[in-house]
Amino acid sequence: MVSDFPRNTYLDFAASTPIDPRVLAAMLPYFQEGFGNASSTHSFGQQAEAAIEKGRATVAQLLNCLPEEVVFTSGGTESDNLALQGVALAMQAETGANHILISPVEHPAVSNTAKYLAKHHGCEVEFLPVDEYGQVDPASVQSRLKSSTALVSVIMANNEIGTINPIAEIATACQAAGVLFHSDAVQAAAYLPLDFEAVGVDLLSLGGHKLYGPKGVGALILRKGTRIEPLFSGGSQESGLRPGTSNTPLIAGFAEALKIAVTERDRHAQHLQILRDQLLSTIPVAIPDTRITGHPHERLANHASFAFHGVNGNDLLMLLSEEGFACSSGSACKTGNPEPSDTLLALGLATDWAFGSLRVTLGRGTTQAEIDAFLAILPQSVARCRQLEQIP
Ligand SMILES: *Cc1c(COP(=O)(O)O)cnc(C)c1O
Repeated sequence: MVSDFPRNTYLDFAASTPIDPRVLAAMLPYFQEGFGNASSTHSFGQQAEAAIEKGRATVAQLLNCLPEEVVFTSGGTESDNLALQGVALAMQAETGANHILISPVEHPAVSNTAKYLAKHHGCEVEFLPVDEYGQVDPASVQSRLKSSTALVSVIMANNEIGTINPIAEIATACQAAGVLFHSDAVQAAAYLPLDFEAVGVDLLSLGGHKLYGPKGVGALILRKGTRIEPLFSGGSQESGLRPGTSNTPLIAGFAEALKIAVTERDRHAQHLQILRDQLLSTIPVAIPDTRITGHPHERLANHASFAFHGVNGNDLLMLLSEEGFACSSGSACKTGNPEPSDTLLALGLATDWAFGSLRVTLGRGTTQAEIDAFLAILPQSVARCRQLEQIP
């Protein structure tokens, strides 16, 4: 199958997670016997529809929202696009509001959608300040809200640096001003308690493959009564907000993955946080000219990230891969892309630091032995990268 590749130790769970076997089992019946089109009236359709509505009820119960507030999508990217484009276009048409306020540390699914709206729909996109850890201050949101603000979007927990934002406080500020608030919770969902009512956001993005579910499915949780336009035209699936034949197996898998994530969250978080803290406390001591990126403790339980001065992050990833470890630089940039990440620059890192980023993200199966082995080889890998940089 995929056996041409070496069995490296996987330390990149923020990029994707394997499907939990229980999730796979929940999906399998709907590829074959349960293949019907959920919009059909016959028994095959009813069976598919029942599975989808069961998934919706499960998601709603887990997140403390109404079933009709759950819109299934093709993943985190589509949820973010639907939230931003859908609200921006609806607000422009109905009230003329066209000011969009986002943090400078959003996933590209949010930041590039905001740029698209500026370019093609005349929206005024404003970036919030963040502190050195990448956190947004709720007061800075409050002071920037204006009568033309259509939407605020702040990521719940950052994919590159793991920092958790004070989403409930930002939601309070937005509610007081009557402004809609979206948060991308794709990374957060596996590790933070997610109560839609308690958090107080109007729109919340989730994705399946970051929480041991399948790729290609996610959800947008959308407060009842929110003005929003669909991205596509078509049938009336998902209240007309997501036309196209519903993907029964992926929806069933997403609901099961979320259920497992929520019920087992504390257990996994406790285990991972110990390993994460070992990385965060050891690496800056073992390797000179190193800093932690993101917040030292208000960060995801599975997430450690660093910047090494004078290192090319892509070289480091290649050396680590040769040593048997699959890590990430944290940003979506692929090898060869010479741009340092916007998120790291937003923290105030100079480029000679921002190029040397490393993200180590742990998962349910990560062991103490794997972390010990990783810590044993990292210092020499970083030293080798620094030597490479010196060759003219
Ligand atoms: C992965 C990710 C996305 C995109 O989700 P997909 O399901 O891969 O489209 C969006 N936001 C964040 C924070 C992510 O980590």
